[in-house]
Formats: sequence, C-alpha cells, structure tokens
Amino acid sequence: MKSLAHKFALLALLAAAGCSVNGNSGTLNADADSAIFQPKSTSVSGSAVGLIGTKTIALTYDDGPKSGLTDDLLNFLDDQGVKASFYMVGKNIIGNEHLVERMAEQDMSLGNHTYDHTPIVKMSKTNMQGVYNEIKETDLLLTPHLRAGKHIFFRSPGGSWTNLIAEAMNQMPDIAQKYIGPVFWDVGGTTYFENMQGQRINGEAVKYDAASGLVTLVRRGAGNAIVKKWSEQSRSLYAAADWDCSVPALNIPVEMCAEGYLKEIERRQGGIVLLHDTHAKTIAMSKILIPRLKALGYKFITMDEIPNIEKFE
Ligand SMILES: [Zn+2]
Repeated sequence: MKSLAHKFALLALLAAAGCSVNGNSGTLNADADSAIFQPKSTSVSGSAVGLIGTKTIALTYDDGPKSGLTDDLLNFLDDQGVKASFYMVGKNIIGNEHLVERMAEQDMSLGNHTYDHTPIVKMSKTNMQGVYNEIKETDLLLTPHLRAGKHIFFRSPGGSWTNLIAEAMNQMPDIAQKYIGPVFWDVGGTTYFENMQGQRINGEAVKYDAASGLVTLVRRGAGNAIVKKWSEQSRSLYAAADWDCSVPALNIPVEMCAEGYLKEIERRQGGIVLLHDTHAKTIAMSKILIPRLKALGYKFITMDEIPNIEKFE
C-alpha cells in the first residue's frame, strides 16, 4: 500500500502533466478490478448500460438535497412507487442528512456530485488533490447512509471529465474501490424550441413570451445593447433542460417543459434523464412527467438496477 504522501506526490505529477490534456487524450490503464472512475469513452450513459430503446428510465436528480423541495419530491416518488437516483452536493447535505437517510429508506440510489459543485476539470490542472478532496468530503457525508450491497455513484458538475482525472482518482483506493462513474445522461441538458431548427437556447440568449408564444433570440452587443437576431412563434419544445425552464426571463410553462422532456424520452425510448431537485419547477414538472411516462408503459429504475452494472464495478 502506497503512503498517502506518495499518492499526493503522484497526483501533483499528474496535475502538472495535465495542463494541456483534454477529455479525449491521455491514456488510462483501466484495471477492471479497481478502475471505477471510467475514462470518457466508457463512462456510464443510457446507451452504455442498455437503457435506450427499452422503455426503461433512470431519473437522476442533481445538486440537492434542498429542504422543502427534495422532501416534496420524495413524497411524490413514494406515492408513485417510483425510484430515482440522486447526485448530491456535499455542502447541501449538511443540515439535510435526514433527507439523504429518507432516500436510502426509499431505496433510491445515492451519488456524489462533489462538495461544492466545483468545475473539477479546471481545478485538476493546478490542484488534483483539491479534486480528490471535493469527492472525499462528500463521500464522508454520504457513506453513513449507504445501505449494504448498494453501489455509490459519481457525477461530475456539468458532466466535465478527463481521462487524467480518472487516472488520478483511480490511484486513490479509498474512493476508486467504491465508486461507479462518472454518470452521464441521455435526456435533458439542452432546450430546443420545436421550430428553431437546432438553435440551442439559454437564459441569456433567448426570450420566450408564453402568452404570445414569441421566441426571440438576442445577443448582447456593444454597450450591452440587446440586438434582436431571430423571432418566431413556438408553443412547444423539442427538448428541454430543466434549469432553462426555471429561468424567469424565459417564462416557460411547466407543462411545456414536461412536453420537451417527454418528446426526447420518446425519441430515445428510454435512458438516463437529467433533472435537478433544487428547482421548484422541476418538482412540479416531475409530477406531470412521471404519471404520463407510466401511462406510456415506461419502467423506472435506479442506477443501482442498471442491467449490466457488473461491467462498471
Ligand atoms: Zn450539478
């Protein structure tokens, strides 16, 4: 067993070497027995685990727990008999430990989403030990709630990841031996209006008027002037990201947001669905989406129940 000091020296070396390494380069000597943090190419998504096309969904809720929202969601999931997976931010667990315990009681899957929602790829370039600390601190908060026989998962903030981080974390047996990840997603994360022909939106670039259905794409010009670039009527989403649905300026009705998720799920016929239990609108949307998906014959599983989980252990 290497000493801790030795391991951090190795991490420092990896960090120094990684200044120009991006997600597609670097090598990973993946030892199937211990390399739990996967390189980008084999990271966990619905296609990797065989959910696409099977009418099976893994609902994943990130960034919580949040008092008043996560408990409301857990009540609803309990009523519906639906299980989900949670990727939690360590600082949000503090004071909300009872919510993590409730998740475990309801047989939800528990996941680590760093301590402070830190952009770890940026951090890894100068401070790989900081990346380890981000994961480890949350690990210490989650582990007391983890039931015997359950896996624990990792999802990186923003989904950013590099082989270099995978390689470094796999040198840390106290976390590499237990985690599966990073977990990506198939549904959610991008908002498209039905008639916008692929134009991605975000809160700063698009205004949506729910009453008229008018979508206006704007860009900030010199002196912060708003320049209208595009405008069209739209009353439906082709795909949705729940955080866009919660941007006040966009004013997207919750029903419309649910429709965006539903359409993307229907196109893929299953997958890992990205959501956030930190937005009231996401909880409201879940209450629309879940019964509708059930009526369409979808099954809900947690990440612990993915069909070929042994591939990632
Ligand atoms: Zn997040």
